[in-house]
Amino acid sequence: MADTALMDKLVSLAKRRGFVFQSSEIYGGVGSVWDYGPLGVELKNNLKERWWRSMVHERDDIEGIDAAILMHSEVWEASGHVSGFTDPLVDCKTCKNRFRSDDARIKGEPGQPDAQCPVCGNKGTLTEPRMFNLMFKTFMGPVEDDASVVYLRPETAQGIYVNYLNVMQAARQKIPFGIAQIGKAFRNEITPGNFTFRTREFEQMEMQFFVKPGDDDRWFDEWRELRMQWHKDLGITPEKLRFHQHAADELAHYAKDGFDIEYQFPFGWQEFEGIHNRTDYDLSRHQECSGKKLGYVDTVNNERYVPYIVETSLGADRLALVAMVDAYREEEISGDKRVVMAFSPQISRINVGVLPLVKEDGMPEFARRIYDDVRLQYPAFYDAGGAIGRRYRRQDEVGTPYGVTVDGQTLDDNTVTVRDRDTLEQDRVGVDQLLAYLAERLGE
Ligand code: ATP
Repeated sequence: MADTALMDKLVSLAKRRGFVFQSSEIYGGVGSVWDYGPLGVELKNNLKERWWRSMVHERDDIEGIDAAILMHSEVWEASGHVSGFTDPLVDCKTCKNRFRSDDARIKGEPGQPDAQCPVCGNKGTLTEPRMFNLMFKTFMGPVEDDASVVYLRPETAQGIYVNYLNVMQAARQKIPFGIAQIGKAFRNEITPGNFTFRTREFEQMEMQFFVKPGDDDRWFDEWRELRMQWHKDLGITPEKLRFHQHAADELAHYAKDGFDIEYQFPFGWQEFEGIHNRTDYDLSRHQECSGKKLGYVDTVNNERYVPYIVETSLGADRLALVAMVDAYREEEISGDKRVVMAFSPQISRINVGVLPLVKEDGMPEFARRIYDDVRLQYPAFYDAGGAIGRRYRRQDEVGTPYGVTVDGQTLDDNTVTVRDRDTLEQDRVGVDQLLAYLAERLGE
C-alpha cells in the first residue's frame, strides 16, 4: 500500500529544513523539476563524492570523464533513442490530461468507449495510444530548422562510448577497464511524480566497463554484487534492498541481461540503479554510423574485437531520495513526538551541533570557541537561537548525530553535555576530551 502521508511529511520536512525545494515555486512551480537547498546539495555531493571515490580513485581500472550534455544528433540516431526511446501515451479529450497508456489508474482499454479517464472520470474520452519520444529537443545556432536540432542527452552513457578510444589511449588502459561519469540527463517523462523519484531533469552516475566478449557474464555478476554491497556499506537498510532481474519483455533494446537494484519506498519497491549487459550494441552502432573503427586490438593475444559493455547506472537524485526515506523516523518519547533523520555520519551534512543552553553568562562565547575547534575536524553547526528543546528538534530533523550543549556547569568545571541523536543518551564530557570522544564515535 502506498504511504502517501509519509511522502507528504518528507516533502514538507525537505522544504522546511532546506533539503529540496520545488523549482520556480513563486511562479507556481514547474512540473517535476526540483532544486536542492543548502542541506540537500551537501547530501547529494556527499553521495556523488563517495561514488566517485569508490569507482575512480580506489580502482586502477576505471577512469573518469565529464562529457558535454549536447552531442551530435547522429549519436541519438545510432543509439536507437530517436526511434526507440518512446512511451505510449493517451490524452483525455475532455480534461486534457495526458497519461502513459499502461497507467494502472486507467480502467478499460484506451481508445475504447468503456475506458475511463482517471482524473475527470469520463468514459470514452481517452485517445488511442500514440508513441511519444522522451528526448528534449532544442536548436543549435540561430536557425530553428530540422538540420539544427540537438537533443538534451537522456543518459550520460553515450558521452562515454564516443570517447572510449580517446580515454583508453590517453590513460593507457587496456581491456578490461571502465569509464565513469556523473552528469545531468533529461527525459520528458509523461507521468513524473513521487517527489524527486521521477523527474524531467536529473543526475546520473554511470560507469561503463569494457570487456572481452565471452567475459561479459562474469563481469556482469561481479558488478551486480559490488553495486549492491556499495549501498549496504552506505548504511541503507539491507532488508529494504533487493534485486529485480529484467524479464525478456522488460529488457532495453540494447541489453542482453539487466538487473535493477530496488528500494522499498513508501510507494512500493522501485528501481534506483540498473546494471545492464549492453553487449557490443552501442560501439557497433557507433562504428556503423560514424564510419570510424571502434574495435579493440589485443596485441598480446593478437585478437581484434568490439568490446562488450557492462553498465552500472545510478540516479544521484534517486539515491538521495533513498537516503532521505531510509533515514526518516517518527518516534514518541514520553508522550512527545519527534521526527529524526537518522543519517549515518558519512552522509549527514552536519556531524556535530554546538548549542549554548541560554544566551547569557558567557555561554555563547564558550560554545563558539568549542564550535571553532570542532569544525576543523567535523562538519559542525552553531545554533544559539530559540528554546533548547526546539533547537534539539531542529538538529534531529536535519540529522545531526551529536549535539554538544554548553550550560551553567560548563563554566564551573569545563564539561559539556553530548547528546546522542538516536539513543537520546546524554554524557558529561570534559572539554579537553571532547574531540577524542567524538573521534571514537565518528571516526578520526
Ligand atoms: P524507470 O523505469 O524508473 O523510468 P529506467 O529503467 O528508464 O527507469 P535507466 O534508463 O536504467 O532507468 O536509468 C538508470 C537510472 O537513472 C535509474 O535507475 C534512475 O536512478 C535514474 N533515472 C532514470 N530516469 C529518471 C528520472 N526520470 N528521474 C530521476 N532519475 C531517473
